[in-house]
Amino acid sequence: MAMGTEDKAQAAKTNLVPVDPRVAAFLSGPKRLLIGGKWVEAASGKTFATVNPATEERLAEVAEADAEDVNRAVRAARAAFERGPWARMAPAERAKLLWKLADRMEEHLEELAQLESLDNGKPLTVARVADLPLAIDLFRYMAGWATKIEGNTIPLGLAEPGSYLAYTVREPVGVVGQIIPWNFPLLMAAWKLGPALACGCTIVLKPAEQTPLSALRLGELIEEVGFPEGVVNILTGFGETAGAALAAHPDVDKVAFTGSTEVGKSIVGAAAGNLKKLSLELGGKSPNIIFADANLEEAVAGAAMAIFFNHGQCCCAGSRLYVEAPVADEVAERIAQEAQKIRVGPGMALDTEMGPLVSQEQYDRVWGYIRSGTEEGAKAKAADLGFGGRGYFVPPTLFTDVRPEMKIVREEIFGPVVCASSFATEEEIPAVANATIYGLAAGIWTRDVGKAHRLASRLRAGTVWINCYNVFDAALPFGGYKQSGWGREMGHAVLESYTELKSVCVRMSPSERSA
Ligand code: ADP
Repeated sequence: MAMGTEDKAQAAKTNLVPVDPRVAAFLSGPKRLLIGGKWVEAASGKTFATVNPATEERLAEVAEADAEDVNRAVRAARAAFERGPWARMAPAERAKLLWKLADRMEEHLEELAQLESLDNGKPLTVARVADLPLAIDLFRYMAGWATKIEGNTIPLGLAEPGSYLAYTVREPVGVVGQIIPWNFPLLMAAWKLGPALACGCTIVLKPAEQTPLSALRLGELIEEVGFPEGVVNILTGFGETAGAALAAHPDVDKVAFTGSTEVGKSIVGAAAGNLKKLSLELGGKSPNIIFADANLEEAVAGAAMAIFFNHGQCCCAGSRLYVEAPVADEVAERIAQEAQKIRVGPGMALDTEMGPLVSQEQYDRVWGYIRSGTEEGAKAKAADLGFGGRGYFVPPTLFTDVRPEMKIVREEIFGPVVCASSFATEEEIPAVANATIYGLAAGIWTRDVGKAHRLASRLRAGTVWINCYNVFDAALPFGGYKQSGWGREMGHAVLESYTELKSVCVRMSPSERSA
């Protein structure tokens, strides 16, 4: 008989990696706000606890920023943008600092990976090979862009040739507020900080209250490598207080947000006061489509990874699975078997493949969806619904017998829960796949290249993965159609959202024309 999830969690606990002494030192030290190059207490003096989701024990106490700290940090960021050395720094110098930061992160990879695992719950083995390398690479990729942010010369259509010199320049958008989530804390910080720094902006970063630690350690590394004071300010605190104040602040030029669609909408409202620029990377309910002609071995493994990676806590998780009728039962059964094999346990155990969810709130939320699916008549496969014990563990779960109107099919669950259904023809699948308010990602599995491209062009999603899933690269833009967001992260596309485009138009006198 297969091991129960609880047994697996217990077994994994025996294989815990000892906490790196540098991590232990960091955890026991003060965790303050980074404002204007100094580590300071919150103006209110308040702190809050961050919890290890595998044990539910307090990991550390962290300064709790509120509106007054946001004011202080924005003032520091404004001063650094207008008057500090950053404003006069050559692009190549910015590039060097970004590259140095990437090197420094690499030197501290194990430490950062452990902090990520302890605070978020994700397997250390995953943080080592995914979160950290991707974050480091992002800074290096953006270092390359710092010296390549260019404009164009524009021939004016209605003017005599040579009578005007018209050109565009891209200038940094200014002071940027960045509000990030807890699912990939350090990677999300990198996605936000990297392009903003490459473009010459200054930043107030607010990590999620559930996972403040890796951003604070990153802040220390940022200071060590020599970014001028006030260029990166870091405020740990809650969304409704620090986050909302940052989104509404009249002296912030742009907010970049990653999180739920619901909070994204409130940020749109908050940003209206000074019409600050916004980029939003929001929720998803991504379809993953398997045709009968696919390499089923790969499709089954890929579909399991699409939903279970990071415990389903991915905005692009392949949470709606559509399988062509002739192989639908077989594929669902095989994914259920894959789910059964996943070793669930504390992230710091080397044999853990899936850790706990990040918080009590997420644990309650995901269990609520599992209950709702069952109540609405869907059948849960591979779910061990009797699982309990310490830590926010939820077993990987596959639902069959689902109907489109069920909550589990319509709403983003943000946990390891996939809804599987079947389809009959290629013709019907785009409408089914697009029947969602979201449009972040989609997956297609087939050996038929023509079919794959035909379908890719009909899916309303910012990313379409064909015969793969969850492939991320600093060079590949990522973002959403519909209510999955505004703008794109990564690639050169992201530079647009951290720059303003200025047109300069010069009338050339006859003598200047001939020169
Ligand atoms: P989740 O529901 O998955 O926790 P959220 O969208 O609530 O995701 O959180 C993502 C980020 O947004 C976090 O840093 C959180 O503190 C912040 N946040 C939450 N509510 C607000 C708000 N009203 N205004 C600004 N930021 C917020």
